[in-house]
Amino acid sequence: ATLAPLLQVRDVTVRYGAITAVHGLSLHVDAGEIVAIVGPNGAGKTSLLSSIAGLVRPQAGAILLRDVTLETVGLENVVRHGIALVPEGRNIFASLTVLENLQLGATIRRDAAVRSDLQAFFESFPILGERRNQPAGLLSGGEQQMLAIARALMSRPTLLMLDEPSLGLAPKIVEQVYAELERIRDGGVTILVVEQNAARAFAVADRAYVMRHGRLALAGTPDELRAHADFDAAYFGVS
Ligand code: ATP
Repeated sequence: ATLAPLLQVRDVTVRYGAITAVHGLSLHVDAGEIVAIVGPNGAGKTSLLSSIAGLVRPQAGAILLRDVTLETVGLENVVRHGIALVPEGRNIFASLTVLENLQLGATIRRDAAVRSDLQAFFESFPILGERRNQPAGLLSGGEQQMLAIARALMSRPTLLMLDEPSLGLAPKIVEQVYAELERIRDGGVTILVVEQNAARAFAVADRAYVMRHGRLALAGTPDELRAHADFDAAYFGVS
C-alpha cells in the first residue's frame, strides 16, 4: 500500500471577517520533499501556513498529517504531531539568551536527548555556541534566522515550515540559510517554505505552488514553472 502524503491541505478556506485570504485551496507535500509556495504580497501564503500550524482555524476544509486531522486540534497539538513553524520575522526573543531561545523550542519534549541536540547544534554553528549565554537580540539577522530554524528543529519535527526565510537578509546569508535547508531535508525533515524570492526557493525545491489571490495559479516542478508561459503573469498578478 502506498503511504498517504505527509501533509494534505484539502479545500481550505481562511477568512478574516469579510476578507477571504485563502479560497478552497488544496495541496500536498510528500515525505522527503522541499516544497515551495511562492506568490506576491497578500496572496495568502502566510494565512495558509498559519492554518497548517494551528494559529488560525480554517472556516472550511481539512488539513491532514498522514491520517491525523489537524485543523481542529490547536497549536500545541500541531507541534506535538510533528509540525514546526519558523514565522515571518523570526520571532526570536531578543532579551532571552541564545540557549534559552533554543530551550523554548524543546518545551514539548520529555526525552533526554535535548542536551545532545543542543550540543550538536552548537557544534554546527560555532558562532551561536560561543554566544549561547548572550541575549539573542545581539545576533545578526542571519544568525537570528539560523537560531529561529534551530529553535523550530528542537521540537524534532517531521515537517518544518518557514515563512519568508530570506526576508531582510543579504544575498550571501540567504545562500547559507538555503544550504542549511537542504542539509535539514537530507537529514530526513520534510520542508514547506513560503517565499517571495521565487528564484531562490526554486533552486532547492522539488516542487512548487504559485499562489495568487488566495488560490493556486500554477503547480509543478521548478523547471516546469519557469518554462510556463503564464508564470510571470501568475506571479506578478498581471492579467
Ligand atoms: P505577505 O507576504 O505580505 O505576508 P501573504 O501572501 O503571506 O502576503 P497573507 O499575509 O496571508 O498573504 O494575507 C492575505 C490577505 O489576508 C491580505 O489581504 C491580508 O491583508 C489579509 N490578512 C492577513 N492576516 C489578516 C488578519 N489577521 N486580519 C485581517 N486580514 C488579514
